[in-house]
Amino acid sequence: MRVAFLGLGIMGGPMAANLVKAGHEVSVWNRTPKSIEGATTAATPAEAAKGKEAVWVCVSDTKAVQSVLFGAQGAIHGLESGAVVVDSSTISPSASINIMEGLQEKGCEFLDAPVTGSKVAAESGSLIFMIGGAVHNIERVEPLLRAMGKKVIHMGENGKGLSAKLAQNMNIVFMYEGLCESLTLARKLGVAPEKMFELIEASMIRSGVAEYKKPFILNQDYSPNFPLKLMHKDIHLMLDAARENDVKLPGLAEIDKVIYEEAASRPGFDDLDYAVTIALLEEMAGLRTKAKVS
Ligand code: NAP
Repeated sequence: MRVAFLGLGIMGGPMAANLVKAGHEVSVWNRTPKSIEGATTAATPAEAAKGKEAVWVCVSDTKAVQSVLFGAQGAIHGLESGAVVVDSSTISPSASINIMEGLQEKGCEFLDAPVTGSKVAAESGSLIFMIGGAVHNIERVEPLLRAMGKKVIHMGENGKGLSAKLAQNMNIVFMYEGLCESLTLARKLGVAPEKMFELIEASMIRSGVAEYKKPFILNQDYSPNFPLKLMHKDIHLMLDAARENDVKLPGLAEIDKVIYEEAASRPGFDDLDYAVTIALLEEMAGLRTKAKVS
């Protein structure tokens, strides 16, 4: 297929590379100039979108998506009627509906298609897509989804992919926080993290989150797979969605206030992986002096 890919960060870079590897004709654009071997590099989102059957977006947040699609040099100025735009950024479900309406005015189709699997799955082409939008549009981009992912779940109409993504990421926040609080208490009581992981893996509390984060925790490696600022952004999207829909999330509000607001106030933490939040818990428990960023 002829496809444009906008946003070549931790996720978008390898996703675009996998489209090239699968033999698609790819044009890429990134705000800070970047290229992908085998793809043509466009000077603007509008130039990238010109003549394409599909335009894929994967940028940080709601404002960034609005800018790459509707800004002065946005994709809307290059998109042809009938093209399908797919957004894999994690943004506000309600803002995503407004984005869909803006694209429909131009005669374009839209899917919200956030992903889970992080950097490793983006690189290996084994992401899980959760999609909101019409089935016939999912079918149109199926060869692209197959090149980047191992599973596609249709969540319902537009916006429902993002609603599912926020609910799913909320689980990750709680599971990681639970893991780190338990490891911190164990260490303070004299049990080593390695021993705790042996126990966790053998028992019913084993989890993908514990398995994925174990080497990073044990090596105190907080290099970004999923930067803290993006998880913090997602927590605010969850709390906003809860407020808009009269849902109480007391546990999440507390984790935001005590852990993520504090972490975000530390110089340099925002760009590290959210795994660094364990360093704050260890500091609070007197297990280390002020948590360092490297
Ligand atoms: P990232 O590495 O920080 O990359 C962010 C990308 O967005 C970069 O290409 C950046 O361009 C671009 N960008 C930011 N602000 C922009 C703006 N105003 N205009 C145009 N481009 C802008 O983030 P990522 O990890 O790839 O995440 C991308 C999206 O996927 C986010 O919504 C994130 O929540 C979601 N996600 C991430 C993961 C993960 O594990 N990393 C997993 C699932 C979902 P520059 O290079 O110029 O800064």
